[in-house]
Amino acid sequence: MKRLTNKIAFVTGGSRGMGAAIVNQLAQDGATVVFTYVNGANAAKELQTNLQTKGLQVETRQADSADPAAIVAAINSVITKYGHIDILVNNAGIAVMKPFEDYTLEDYEQTMAINTRAVFLATQAATRNMPAGGRVITIGSCMADRVISANGTLYSMSKSALTAFNKGLARDLGTKGITTNLVQPGPIDTDMNPADGPYSDHQRQHIALGHYGKVKDVADLVAFLAGPESSYINGSALTIDGGMTS
Ligand code: NDP
Repeated sequence: MKRLTNKIAFVTGGSRGMGAAIVNQLAQDGATVVFTYVNGANAAKELQTNLQTKGLQVETRQADSADPAAIVAAINSVITKYGHIDILVNNAGIAVMKPFEDYTLEDYEQTMAINTRAVFLATQAATRNMPAGGRVITIGSCMADRVISANGTLYSMSKSALTAFNKGLARDLGTKGITTNLVQPGPIDTDMNPADGPYSDHQRQHIALGHYGKVKDVADLVAFLAGPESSYINGSALTIDGGMTS
């Protein structure tokens, strides 16, 4: 039996980047995985088909995390179908990087809606009847702890809210036997932060290991946190940044 057999997992933003690697790993580990996307219908379908061809259990939901009703409805549809969710991975996020004076109210509302509010709502909906042994894993950012350059104020603000959210949640859910942990990546090679992008050399200078991380690095950590081996890790922030914040 695989380590996540019989577990129902829900991953937000699973069509690309880290989310797709997390979907892949949780499915390979035996979980039934439902993931959301917003625009990437083709990428989502391709990932789903690819994993289903290997005999793995994967479904998709089109659900914009900026829309409170959509994210809650997607989670409720999984609970209706499978009875409950065992593993919630709050992964979907956006990064609007700008000089501070250029941020608009829309930038603020959109960033906080996706990076922060959706995490609160998805967690509330998914833990409503999450059984003991359940897992809430949220993807924050090492920028909640250290910001190495300008233009990241709004993004780092949205991610720092997750630090205290994770701590409070550990108290609320611990008595139910559910753990909640925050994964804080540093530079990981994705569409959001390509290793050959215009800001990558500057970031690399601050990484102790000198190179970007891969999506699989994060997926492996998330899969560990999702499984039985991590049962006493709770309310923790696990930084995975090659030493950027060291
Ligand atoms: P990508 O931009 O590569 O992928 C983002 C994923 O989230 C896509 O699947 C996208 O779906 C989905 N998504 C975006 N907006 C929404 C939305 N409104 N509703 C539902 N899904 C949405 O990002 P990464 O993989 O790099 O980032 C994943 C997480 O990791 C984010 O929370 C990010 O903040 C965080 N992070 C990333 C770092 C990095 O260096 N890459 C560093 C630290 C943290 P679609 O395909 O439909 O657009």
